[in-house]
Amino acid sequence: MLQSLTSDEKFSRYLATDNNSFEEEFRLYLRDEIVKIIRTDGSWSVGSILHQDVAKGLLNNIIWWLFNDDPEQTLLHLEELNNPQHICGRVFKPGEPTYSCRDCAMDPTCVFCQQCFRMSEHQKHRYKAEMDEGGGMCDCGDTEAFLRHTRCSTHEESYQKSKLAAEDAVSRLPEKVRERAPKFFEVILSYIVEFLTNEKTSISDLDESLQPSEKSDCFVTMLYNDELHTFDFVIDILKRALKCDEAIGSDFATIVDREGRSAVCIDDVNACEEVKKIVGTRPTAYFSFRTNEPLKTLVMHVNIVAHQEMALLLLPWLSRIVKQSEGLRKIFCDVALNEFIKAIPPEVGVSGMISPVERFIRCDHELWKTARNMYLQLLMNSLLLDAETKKKFGILFTRLYEIIQEGFLNGDHEHGHSVASMAVQLYTVPTVTRHLIVHENVIGVILRALAKSCYDGTLLNPDDWCNIMKLNTRRMKWAMRRAHHSFYDLRYILAILPDQMTADLKSKFIDGVKLFVQILMAMQGMDSITRKADRHIEHEPDWETGVNVVIKFNPVIYHLLQWFRTDVDLLFIMLKLCLQALKVLNESDPASLRSGVTVYNNQTYPCLDYDITKQPVSTQYPVTRLMSAIIVELGLAGMTWSDIERNEHIASMLESNSLPPMQLMECSLRCLCLSAQVNAGMWRRNGLSLINQLFYYKDYRCRQEAYERDVQLLQVSAANMDPNNFIVILLNKMKLNPESPEFAEYHIALMSEFFRLLISICGERYTPGVAVASLQEQGKRQIIHILASEPKPHSKISKQLPDSVSDKIPWEEILQEVADFQEPTSISSVGRYVLKPSMLAQFCPYSFHYTTLTDETKAQHEVVRRKKALQMTTVFIPPKLPQFSELFRNIPKLLCCDVFVDLVSKFLQQLTTGDHERWSDRLVEKVLYLISMAIIEHEQQKEMNPENDFDFIKKAVAGCERGILFLLKQLQVTESLLIHRDTVRWLVLKIERHSNQRHGSSSAVDPEHFILSREDSNEERDPTRNARKRKAQELRDKLLTQMKTMQQDFLSQNPDVMSGGSQGESMELSQVSASSQRENETPVCTDLSWQQETLKAMEPSYTCMLCQEEAVAAEGSMVMSALVQRSSVLTRGPHGELNNLDDFAPLFVDLSYQSGIHTSTCSHTMHYECFKQFRDSVNSTEARRRHNSRYSRKGFDIKNNEFLCPLCSRLSNSVIPVIPHPFIAKQRGILTDPLEDEMIDSQPSTSATPSTMREWLKSIEEVLKPLKLEAQEVVLKFHVDVSDMKNEMEKAEAADSQNEAEEVLEETVQALTQVDAAASADATILLEDQRAALNEFIEQIQVVGLNGDISEVHRPLTSWLSVATTVICSEMVGRLEGTPILAKSPIRISSALSGVIRAAFAMNSTSSEEQLSEVRDHARKLLSALIGEDTDEQSHALLNSNIFSLFVSLLFSSAILRKSKSMQNQPALRDSAEFERNILYLCTLAQIIQIFVFLNVDELEGIVGTGERREEAGAMYLACNQVRANAHLPPLPSNIDEDQLMETVTDCLHPFLRCCALLLFHVTGVPVPDSLETRDNQSSLLQYLGLTKNLTELFDVGGKMSLEPLIQRWCSHSDVIARVASLPYHVLYPVVSQVPDIVPFPHDYSDLIGAAASFKCPKFASEDSLCPTMCLVCGVVLCSQSYCCQQTLPGKDVQVGACTFHTLQCGASTGMFLRVREAAIVLLHGVYRGCFAPAPYLDRHGETDKGLRRGNPLYLNQPRLQELRKLWLSHGIAERVSHDIESRNIGHLVDWAHL
Ligand SMILES: [Zn+2]
Ligand SMILES: [Zn+2]
Ligand SMILES: [Zn+2]
Ligand SMILES: [Zn+2]
Ligand SMILES: [Zn+2]
Ligand SMILES: [Zn+2]
Ligand SMILES: [Zn+2]
Repeated sequence: MLQSLTSDEKFSRYLATDNNSFEEEFRLYLRDEIVKIIRTDGSWSVGSILHQDVAKGLLNNIIWWLFNDDPEQTLLHLEELNNPQHICGRVFKPGEPTYSCRDCAMDPTCVFCQQCFRMSEHQKHRYKAEMDEGGGMCDCGDTEAFLRHTRCSTHEESYQKSKLAAEDAVSRLPEKVRERAPKFFEVILSYIVEFLTNEKTSISDLDESLQPSEKSDCFVTMLYNDELHTFDFVIDILKRALKCDEAIGSDFATIVDREGRSAVCIDDVNACEEVKKIVGTRPTAYFSFRTNEPLKTLVMHVNIVAHQEMALLLLPWLSRIVKQSEGLRKIFCDVALNEFIKAIPPEVGVSGMISPVERFIRCDHELWKTARNMYLQLLMNSLLLDAETKKKFGILFTRLYEIIQEGFLNGDHEHGHSVASMAVQLYTVPTVTRHLIVHENVIGVILRALAKSCYDGTLLNPDDWCNIMKLNTRRMKWAMRRAHHSFYDLRYILAILPDQMTADLKSKFIDGVKLFVQILMAMQGMDSITRKADRHIEHEPDWETGVNVVIKFNPVIYHLLQWFRTDVDLLFIMLKLCLQALKVLNESDPASLRSGVTVYNNQTYPCLDYDITKQPVSTQYPVTRLMSAIIVELGLAGMTWSDIERNEHIASMLESNSLPPMQLMECSLRCLCLSAQVNAGMWRRNGLSLINQLFYYKDYRCRQEAYERDVQLLQVSAANMDPNNFIVILLNKMKLNPESPEFAEYHIALMSEFFRLLISICGERYTPGVAVASLQEQGKRQIIHILASEPKPHSKISKQLPDSVSDKIPWEEILQEVADFQEPTSISSVGRYVLKPSMLAQFCPYSFHYTTLTDETKAQHEVVRRKKALQMTTVFIPPKLPQFSELFRNIPKLLCCDVFVDLVSKFLQQLTTGDHERWSDRLVEKVLYLISMAIIEHEQQKEMNPENDFDFIKKAVAGCERGILFLLKQLQVTESLLIHRDTVRWLVLKIERHSNQRHGSSSAVDPEHFILSREDSNEERDPTRNARKRKAQELRDKLLTQMKTMQQDFLSQNPDVMSGGSQGESMELSQVSASSQRENETPVCTDLSWQQETLKAMEPSYTCMLCQEEAVAAEGSMVMSALVQRSSVLTRGPHGELNNLDDFAPLFVDLSYQSGIHTSTCSHTMHYECFKQFRDSVNSTEARRRHNSRYSRKGFDIKNNEFLCPLCSRLSNSVIPVIPHPFIAKQRGILTDPLEDEMIDSQPSTSATPSTMREWLKSIEEVLKPLKLEAQEVVLKFHVDVSDMKNEMEKAEAADSQNEAEEVLEETVQALTQVDAAASADATILLEDQRAALNEFIEQIQVVGLNGDISEVHRPLTSWLSVATTVICSEMVGRLEGTPILAKSPIRISSALSGVIRAAFAMNSTSSEEQLSEVRDHARKLLSALIGEDTDEQSHALLNSNIFSLFVSLLFSSAILRKSKSMQNQPALRDSAEFERNILYLCTLAQIIQIFVFLNVDELEGIVGTGERREEAGAMYLACNQVRANAHLPPLPSNIDEDQLMETVTDCLHPFLRCCALLLFHVTGVPVPDSLETRDNQSSLLQYLGLTKNLTELFDVGGKMSLEPLIQRWCSHSDVIARVASLPYHVLYPVVSQVPDIVPFPHDYSDLIGAAASFKCPKFASEDSLCPTMCLVCGVVLCSQSYCCQQTLPGKDVQVGACTFHTLQCGASTGMFLRVREAAIVLLHGVYRGCFAPAPYLDRHGETDKGLRRGNPLYLNQPRLQELRKLWLSHGIAERVSHDIESRNIGHLVDWAHL
């Protein structure tokens, strides 16, 4: 009966059920409906197998029962019933910024979200900004997270409200909802658990209640993700299995990767099995890279999949419900933690039931990614928002900890997507942790889990000491990849110190620590080594694992010590534990503590008989070191040795009532001696692994808990035993015992190490506990020694400081105290801290902070260098040291015990013999330093207590001929010790002074004073040092002269390099000649006489950088290497790929400047012939190299014609011929026949006047008429040869083409000049090579501009475009930098400009007749547009184009026009200077009119006029409105006044005038007036251009608007009217005249991260993008370096990344991007090349921070931003990329194509 019901009826029936039958009805309702949500009809596609609408409807219906109403509506209503939310609880997305407060946060994991932070007090504190990995939570409102300012102002407000209305949120729920909710959650949760946590595939797995009435035979093949197979492997196998293409395969693979699984086939069972068979084949390991496991695939019945999908849809809905309704959340939490799910063995729960949460946790590692993410999200939105449920969850989590870790370790999921990542939410909450330690023994739990993953043997009983576990290095190595998270968990727990140590807490804590000690026991002596005496070791043993573990354990030990410190009793218990542990260890190895004796000076001393040169020794003794740390803590607590011995805990386990220091320090001593012997070279045959281990032993990452602990243990032992015995033991262990000499060849080096160790033992007293020193003092000493070797950036200093310093004290203040900040000196450098000079005296040359001997020496040298520069003494006098604490008080006795004095005097005696074989300088330095330490110690001891029995002086003076003083005095005159003389003298004076004082006589000389006074003279007295110095000086001088000659050679060969360049020189020359003759006149570039003046200047000469020959341009065929690029920099509005060639190279460049061609050069010149040879050789080596090494990449690509400039290695792809200026002048018609010279001089120079202008316009119209005819003729000529003949007959008899006529002319000229100036080459004629080079250049412009197509038709157009683009860009770069347009510019820019301009001019002379007629046709069109002639066809709207570009085209085409035979008699063309002047005039006018028409009046409002020029402004205002009326535009709004308009128009016109001036300067060579070199004022510019001084005069000549008809014609063009009607914002003035800019950056870097965190992959909208990358040109954000957004290159079967693809579209093949999360700029060039650069953000220490790892807030740095802008605007990206690739000679294989 039920089957016949419709869906609606079923729904009504479902709604009507009550609590009791809900489960049954719910299942009944889903039973047949569920399958409808899957697209079984074949309409499914990648990533969408659901009928979304159907699924949503069904979901909605299910929830309807709970609310008994529309869910969305009800939820909104329920939200209003909440208590005000005073805890933020925002769950972070990956990459979202988080903020922690260094001043107020309990620990660094306590963070605010961006919104809360911006509303909080912490903004003003020292905060830290970081990026979340995803899954973290905002702690705003959590009273346990912050010391103060717990809430942001928003949540504080809600908190105040909630205090008023603290009512139970549950009771406020509507009654029906409240009743139904528990049942609803229970049923839904068990349904979800049923389908997500059990693997079901066949329909028979379905529960009886869900068996559908009709069983479909549809199945699904599901592919699951793992981290073992590569993307490419998956794509490949899917291509085969599904017979799909690469793109589909890639989409499937992406879904699998992102969501954890994907349906790959929906079909009948056979088809599905078939797919499974192929996809599930076991791959050969080669293809899958890491494994030969098959991919996991399942064939499932469609109903199972449908239920799973429904469960997945329900999870986020539950999240929403519990998030929005507080009452429902409370109910939900109760249900979720209630045990009602049937447990599956081995799960156990109360009566065989467990809670849904427990089931999820237990199955976590089996779930696929989406399922896991969704349930975790649900837990965060529910359990973690309430303190009580958080605690319950914490308990459950801890009980399951081992299972969680095991699952995580064995799985391959990322930590952030695993339930294991919840630890940070739970274990950082003090109340929860406290409870967990006491009641759940969480420390033990974590340690057990850790032990299980790395050790053999088990940790079961904390008191079972005999069961020593064994470290399983192999397993540990494997586990360490993932187990390190457990260390973090432990750190979270320990980071919270208890307020008070209750008995309960203490005993549980000790239980945990016992396990910890057991773990350490397993590591005691691990990776041990035995010295290889004869043969080298065969294979290097693994050492990394051990070091890694130690690095992981160190922070744990650090936190444990903080705990111990809270209670002295705890320290004693810990010491006892360590002693017990050592006892057990020693008992297991009887050889370890065998006692023996050693003899020194006929006296026997007890020692331990363990020979490290024969028996195994290790660098890892963690138990010993833990003990050392505890003893130091006891020292800090003020204990003495006998206090320790008498303590109840210790005494109870001592056999002879005393602690034997000798045995305690044994392991530390072994390790230190090992290190000494290795340094001395005794262990060379043991290979690198030993060296590495010892490196880490002393490196700042491990040193604190290794090397330093060993030294401290030796210190405590030395202090509490006979000092003589101690030194003898040391000598014995090191193999230095004089009684039984061994290893004689290492004696000197070993002695040196021995004394160094002694210096450490006596001198290292800054650790609190060892000495009476504060953490501040310790930190200060460390910072001084870190900075001694060189100035360092903040990040390096903070990295090298131990946690105890960087966490506990305001070390940055100390840094300020000891060092000066040095701002970054250049764009690429960072800020550094330099040690203050006053701190140099604090330096200890043998500080144990230096990891290697090299570090130490470097620091010593640097300090000596600086001291010398500051004229300070270079003798290292030991600084005054802090007093030792009680426990260590006796250490100084070492310095005056008999053995020490004996050793030193014996050594000094050896020195007096002068036998070099017996000592080294380093050894002498150390001994002398020790003596000075002893003297200083003597002073200190006497100062404290004059009766002290420490008396070094007495011992030094005694002994006559063998006494120290006597020997030192002898050494003063020993020749071979001259370099130590200052130190020796200082010592002698010191000792004498003290001994004199003692005898009552006062010393005459103060040693300090003495040294300072002697410092100067001492140089001369020291022959050896002097000799060395002289030698060095000679060498330096020699090198210097060499350099100088080289430099001079280079300069003489390349004069342009230093003088500002060849063009610069020519400028100078012309200027000199000009100013000498026309001193009082201001140059005008359009004036003919001025132009001719320039021709008198000498042509500069150039040097070929390849053959070093010198030549002037006219005879040498010189070329400059150049780079031609397509450019989209000037594009206004959307950037897009242009495919239509006519669009690309139009005659009229649109105002929006869609695309351009940019040319730049380094201006290094060479012969064209030499260049060709050079390029051939490069190409052939390149071809060979490519053949050999497939993988190495180069900065240039010969396929694109690229090469590197042979001198400066700049990327180039073409050459620009150097065209002599006279040639251009002739082309322009300025240089006429030499015979006409006089005539030219007599010609009056006229300026544009209205009357002549009107006449001129008329005559142009005349010009156009015959041109039209001619154009038609040309067209005919192409087709009909006969007409060609006819044409030719008509025109001229001698020549049949323009070219020939020209040649004839040239020949004549040549002949004439040869007569005139026999020797000098004629600069007006091009050589054959020059023509060839010119052709090559023009072709390259076309290849680049037209993407490889060479079109004869576009030849002139592309070269004009290149000129226009290059000029406009350099104008803009100048504007960006604020330089006047005609200021002397860098050679590179000015040569590029004149090179390009001249080459484009010269192009005409190499053109064929066909091209010339083409040009003439272009010229005609340009002119007719300019005069606005009402032509029938093709008249172009002038005002829609870029006027400057139009001017360039007009200028260049007119030269051709003029030379046309038929034109020669036209009056308009006869005077070329007048012609140029007139078109400039008209273009300027057009530019102003364009500004009037395309003016964004809204933008004007903010502009404030200057208040000057009122009259002119009035005329301008009137004119503007008139023009606007012509263009059918409304008049200017009344709120805009005349001044505002004037100001705007002036500003907008300025760039145009600057461009014209720059162009005409290079075309004419007329010198720049002084006024323009320093400042661009508009009137000087106008004057230089030969225009009127007044803007209004330009268009309102004489107030009569005489050009009115012309203007009207321009404005009323139909295209203009049409465009005005639809004005897009970005092509309006003033924006269009402004310098284009890259996208704006926010000031605070974290804002940028915040914005990018919400960015979703544009293709798979549900997914967060992994690497959001912003195009800096257009601002679009892309999903970079990801398979999901790859695209296929048009026309090629190549897949490229989103950025690479975008580069080709947006940036005309160069791109500039910001990888937001890494704070890195990516520069791309083409498909395969790129480089990284730092983002323009710096912290206050002048450093960038990739990926916000250090957390210092980063702010925008303007100079760096400016640098980026300039890089882009000046087209420097390609060059920068090439330079980066070339200069970094590593196989740096970033796959740029896939970014
Ligand atoms: Zn927040
Ligand atoms: Zn807040
Ligand atoms: Zn704060
Ligand atoms: Zn040459
Ligand atoms: Zn160069
Ligand atoms: Zn994407
Ligand atoms: Zn872009």
